[in-house]
Amino acid sequence: MSNAIYIILLGAPGAGKGTQAEVLHARFGLTHISSGDLFRENVARQTPLGVLAKSYMDKGELVPDDVTIKMVMERIARPDCARGVVFDGFPRTHAQAQALDAALAQQSKKIGAAVFIQVRDQVLIERLTARWSCPACGAVYNLLTNPPRSAGQCDKDTRALTQREDDKPETVRRRLAVYQQQTAPLIEYYRQTGLLRPVDGEQMIERVTAEVVAIAQAL
Ligand code: AMP
Repeated sequence: MSNAIYIILLGAPGAGKGTQAEVLHARFGLTHISSGDLFRENVARQTPLGVLAKSYMDKGELVPDDVTIKMVMERIARPDCARGVVFDGFPRTHAQAQALDAALAQQSKKIGAAVFIQVRDQVLIERLTARWSCPACGAVYNLLTNPPRSAGQCDKDTRALTQREDDKPETVRRRLAVYQQQTAPLIEYYRQTGLLRPVDGEQMIERVTAEVVAIAQAL
């Protein structure tokens, strides 16, 4: 692995982008930028951006490009991004992908790989609706595959687990439809630039991780 690397994790909601982003952060020291987490932080602090974003997030729609791009561009201008970044949930549209390319090019940097974590819709629905997390420390559990040791309680700090508003079944269906319409076309965008690295996201998590790590190591 050379210098600072910039990796995009592509894939539908529930594909495992957040989990793999944490692995890349821990293994390679990449800064983990999750646009969804940035929005959720703004929602929690009730900033004007948070209030606006919430109205889209609650419906499973994308937050408009102009505000999303501005938020992420401000984030990547911070010094911790110079050591490399793993993008999780961004870009989600062509406009976002182009804005990211342009911003990196300005700093003579570029994306090293767009890792596409592939998972079928049926599996995504099962995963997302079983996903619960700790409101205090952010630990994520899956009631089917990675349940907490004691039901409904965080292993780390015993807080009661909650379900993300947008992981409720109707919103999950809408998020998957939005993904197909607006984000799936990016797969072709990155294929054409030779950056696409598909990974089967339905394998055991250790296998997925091994493949993602190998892709990063080869950069
Ligand atoms: P996530 O945690 O990545 O699933 O994001 C949760 C929600 O935040 C999405 O359903 C969108 O409403 C919003 N969001 C996150 N990232 C983006 C993005 N790159 N573009 C537009 N909306 C986003």
